[in-house]
Amino acid sequence: MEFPNLFSPITINGMTLKNRIVMTAMHLGYTPEGKVTERLVDFYTLRARGGVGLCVVGGCPIDEYGSMASMINLKDDSYVPGLKKLTDSVQTAGAKIAAQLYQAGRYTHSSMIGGKKPFSASAVRSRLTGETPRALGLDEIPGVQDKFAEAALRAQKAGFDAVEILGSAGYLISQFLSPLTNLRKDPYGGSFENRMRFGLEVMEKVRGAVGPDYPIIVRLAGNDFMAGGNTNKESKIFASELEGVGVDLFNVTGGWHETRIPQLTMFVPPKAFTYLAQGIKSAVSVPVLASNRINDPYIGEEIIRNGEADMVTMARALLADPHLPNKVKEGKTGLIYHCIACNQGCFDRIFRQKAATCLVNPRAGLEGQITSEPPKRKKKVLVIGGGPAGLKAACTAAERGHQVSLVEQNDRLGGQLLLNKSIPGREEMVVAATDLINNLKAFHVDIILNREADYAFIRDSAPDVVVMATGARPLLPDIRGIETYGAILAWDLLAGKAGVGKKVVIIGGNAVGLETALFLAHQGTISPEILHFLVTNRAETWDTLEELTNRGNKEVTVLEMTKYAGKDIGGSTRWTVSTELKRLGVKIVTGAMALEVVQDGVKFEKDGVEDTLLADSVVIAAGAKSEKTLSRDIEDLSSEFYIIGDAKEPRNALEAIKEGYLTGLKI
Ligand code: SF4
Repeated sequence: MEFPNLFSPITINGMTLKNRIVMTAMHLGYTPEGKVTERLVDFYTLRARGGVGLCVVGGCPIDEYGSMASMINLKDDSYVPGLKKLTDSVQTAGAKIAAQLYQAGRYTHSSMIGGKKPFSASAVRSRLTGETPRALGLDEIPGVQDKFAEAALRAQKAGFDAVEILGSAGYLISQFLSPLTNLRKDPYGGSFENRMRFGLEVMEKVRGAVGPDYPIIVRLAGNDFMAGGNTNKESKIFASELEGVGVDLFNVTGGWHETRIPQLTMFVPPKAFTYLAQGIKSAVSVPVLASNRINDPYIGEEIIRNGEADMVTMARALLADPHLPNKVKEGKTGLIYHCIACNQGCFDRIFRQKAATCLVNPRAGLEGQITSEPPKRKKKVLVIGGGPAGLKAACTAAERGHQVSLVEQNDRLGGQLLLNKSIPGREEMVVAATDLINNLKAFHVDIILNREADYAFIRDSAPDVVVMATGARPLLPDIRGIETYGAILAWDLLAGKAGVGKKVVIIGGNAVGLETALFLAHQGTISPEILHFLVTNRAETWDTLEELTNRGNKEVTVLEMTKYAGKDIGGSTRWTVSTELKRLGVKIVTGAMALEVVQDGVKFEKDGVEDTLLADSVVIAAGAKSEKTLSRDIEDLSSEFYIIGDAKEPRNALEAIKEGYLTGLKI
């Protein structure tokens, strides 16, 4: 077998898992009132059928203080019957299931708990909520710890195979552990030994409640990534102490929610934080799970084979493809839809209090509502356009049994997704296209490249159904001098069809504008391989290395007419893009209206004052407009006709793929 380590069973305090793949807890928003819903049951049951070893669900609030109403609740016995339905269904489908015990402390917003003040180790303001919690009184501490134990017992009663204590990410246990948030002068503060006390006692109480033969997992930050906070050194000591009081498995993740080190975006390289799990593994003798950005079975296999960790978590990876474990087992790794860490369907929606879905899997969260049935009549389907919407429509229709052809006027499939190939940190968007293409081939879609679908082509193809997914074209704003002085379209630049001089002004601070700025600002910086070579050979000083990594050979300025740049980038990624742009020295001028492209730059107006930015090259990133010139012809030629994706209305890939999917199901 190709993945002997990933698929080797493991027993954790009597709980035998059939493989080493764990779907770790993520907030999904499928339980608006905290009670288990059919939607949640359907979601996890499908993942269990897809072959995952263990699902951890949650966070599950242990009390009424550290929670949002929409989290899977464990705070009292009224939730147990619903939870029992969930555990029964997941176990019947072949997986084990654990509940994550959640208390957020100062990460709780007072508005979530009826205006009450959240508590923490000390009254230290939270950057996440903008609020200052109150310090727990010494006499209150045992009561909070008891809530963990009571919730663990409840989870056990509800049929969970294990519990996971959430001791990472800056939640309550981490708040006691960190010198940044624990300023106490009593036995729970001061020395590291004292700061560990709260978490260790929680663990002891949970163990006391569930008994010796019940698996307890602790999720730990391998490094808080907070200046002056705990690092892997302290985490190792804490882990070793926790093992002493009965932990059976450590789930090691990265830093706090307040850290300025990206944790979840595409900028984080795959398996970036596995070294933290490896650190914990060196300090304990129980198994260790590696977390964050493990989206591919080959990476999982390598981690376990190399002894970096014993198991791997794949949360977003299984949101993206619930069948990933079974596909691996059945030798169909080429058909996996990988999580690309875009966060567009999951975290960005969750941060806006919406239910999670997935860019590459529009069915995520709608498992009970959307099913793919074979068609009543097999039809001849012609999809025009090989961007994300067209690819998904073609795949879905072909998978259901239709005879599908896809015609693309370029020599490659992927559409706008391919533009990301040259943007540092965005390359994984291309994986979404590659995965769709692999599935297209597996379902025998006839792919026709380098062919424009004109009237004659469509007529001669004689399709029963035409799906027009011809995408969009860049929008040329009405600014004087654009054509005279040869302004360049951002799409042409990213596609390698044009080059620029040293000083560049980009008109438009939307996602494409900022990503183009990233692309340009990286030009002339050293590659990760060269950096590694110079570091390992100590060839340059740290200052020089920093300079070589952060300064390229372009001077880039972005002009954005609204108050904020990057509004169309999701919240989880926007701040990492602006940090990166700042690091690379890109200037962003907001509230600035471009008036005219002139020979040596761009005239603009800001706050009623006109000015000129000097530039060797001007790049236009002013949005897109639908490409639908073909539509009238098609209406004449086909009785069943759909316009989807950007051809209908320019939007993001999440919307385009969803529309392609729903169209493919409709035919
Ligand atoms: Fe991954 Fe993006 Fe899907 Fe979230 S929306 S699971 S980040 S592919």
